[in-house]
Amino acid sequence: MLSFLIDADLCVACLACVRICPSDAIEVVGEAPLLRVVDESCIRCGECVPACPHQAVKVSGELGRALELAGQGTAALILSPESAAHFYPATPEQLINACYAAGFRVVTRGVIGDELVAAEYLRLWEDEPWGTLVRSTDPVVVETVRMQYPELVPYLAPVATPTVAETRYLRARYGASLPVVYAGHVAPPSCREVDAAVTFSDLEQLLRMRSVSALTQPTFFQRIPEERRRHLSAAGGMPLAMLEESRQAGSRFRIVRGLDALPALARAVTVERLELGFVDILSNEGALDHPLSGPKEELYWRRALVASAEPPRSRSPVVDRALTMSIGATFEIKPRPAPADAAAVEAVLASIGTASNGKPWDCGACGYDTCLQFARSAVSGRASLRQCPPHEERRANEAVRAAAVDVLTGLATYRVLQERLQYEIERSKRSDEAFAVLFIDLDSFKLVNDRHGHEAGNDILRAVAAEIRAAVRASDVASRYGGDEFVVILTRTDLPGATRVAEALRAGIEGVGRRLGYPAGLVTVSIGVAEFDPHRPADGDLLVAADRALYRAKMAGRNLIAEAQRLRQHEVTRT
Ligand code: SF4
Ligand code: SF4
Ligand code: SF4
Repeated sequence: MLSFLIDADLCVACLACVRICPSDAIEVVGEAPLLRVVDESCIRCGECVPACPHQAVKVSGELGRALELAGQGTAALILSPESAAHFYPATPEQLINACYAAGFRVVTRGVIGDELVAAEYLRLWEDEPWGTLVRSTDPVVVETVRMQYPELVPYLAPVATPTVAETRYLRARYGASLPVVYAGHVAPPSCREVDAAVTFSDLEQLLRMRSVSALTQPTFFQRIPEERRRHLSAAGGMPLAMLEESRQAGSRFRIVRGLDALPALARAVTVERLELGFVDILSNEGALDHPLSGPKEELYWRRALVASAEPPRSRSPVVDRALTMSIGATFEIKPRPAPADAAAVEAVLASIGTASNGKPWDCGACGYDTCLQFARSAVSGRASLRQCPPHEERRANEAVRAAAVDVLTGLATYRVLQERLQYEIERSKRSDEAFAVLFIDLDSFKLVNDRHGHEAGNDILRAVAAEIRAAVRASDVASRYGGDEFVVILTRTDLPGATRVAEALRAGIEGVGRRLGYPAGLVTVSIGVAEFDPHRPADGDLLVAADRALYRAKMAGRNLIAEAQRLRQHEVTRT
């Protein structure tokens, strides 16, 4: 069986493979995020390999087992015909010689399996009526049907894949204990009959490890080769006779390519109850078009090369009729995963949010067609919200908002205060308009906390913040400086104007204590007022000036307002 792995060192988490995977087999885990192929969901289609721009998806077969079997010298190797393109410029003769030199006892070209399967299809074809029969020689199609469209399983032709058919044939010929290795892209995913399946790259490595080079082998067969000719079949095990009949556009035969056709097929057969005849379905245009075969643009080159290595057809059957074996197959339905918990799916959808028209985004950026598909996958642990750009954008905005708003009071934070202060200073210098700040501090707040508890203290802070918010204009900034200290920036306001606002605030906050049911005089504030004069911008730090004024208000008895006046004696106003 071939395995698909993602190399964490090469993967940049671009999610291109997630988007292309037809079986939702690539799991995104963790915050990093990391990607992993879920083996039991992988249908071995290979689409993720060319989709990865960083060559991070690695495919490997059972090289260790194949190497061991080659070393024992007892195994047969089914070398699929596409090998002619992969090992070019080595010739098919050189490659087969190399495989023998590496220790295989028998090396076949993989056409006997096609012949056996083609004969079985012909038998079914003539055995009318069969309504709908779906070709079952493409393991990727079969696995997808078993996992995702179990309603189509009864319509799969009960025929083994060519590799399995050839394995049975070889065992009938050389003994039931013959170990068999398959080399190619179209390994049956869940087949236990083949002892080891390897990719062509694995085979290259096996030859190197056995110190064999295909290119240095003679260009003629050193041993009498196994049967290499076809009689009945085309590549992949389709009978030529059926393909010829299909060209006459009869309703008994249709050619379908790509897994995308399966939903319509399932609907036509099981809902609309149509009889489709023989459905020749492949996941791509054949083994030479398989994603592991190489770039799409070289498909015609590969076809021409493999065709040039094809020996002339035999006029008579090439299969030894004296050998008896079954070519049949049964297909078990794979249990579908339990549906995702509806409440959890709803929670994920709520985190994603909706577009401005209230509908799901369904933008597909996460690799799923719809938000719902993504949410189901996220609930089953296969996807991470890190994949969803709208969610990430919302989270970033929330983080900015969280940093800008004090959680307890809802006022601006110290960071926002600093930014706005700098902005107002620059604006004041440009516009020649003064502005002012109020530094507000609750009097004896520790006493309130000690006597009435911290929750009561928090209620007072919230109420004072509400009073401040109500007293200032939208263009002003009301912020929590820290603890029980608040700073207000009053834009386009001079010192007398700021002092009037401060007085109104002081009186309002005195009323907060009464409203909350505390004795008079328990909740009061002292306020330091400072003005920024654009004509004397170098007069020092505005907040420091306001803080010093506040200190003087405290020293003078609390529940007071004090103005900071540059280079003049500070005045204390008892109100
Ligand atoms: S081989 Fe196919 S099914 Fe498996 S992970 Fe890659 S794209 Fe998905
Ligand atoms: S395509 Fe997949 S494996 Fe390749 S870099 Fe992107 S996320 Fe990683
Ligand atoms: S909004 Fe997010 S979850 Fe929905 S489709 Fe777009 S990326 Fe995927």
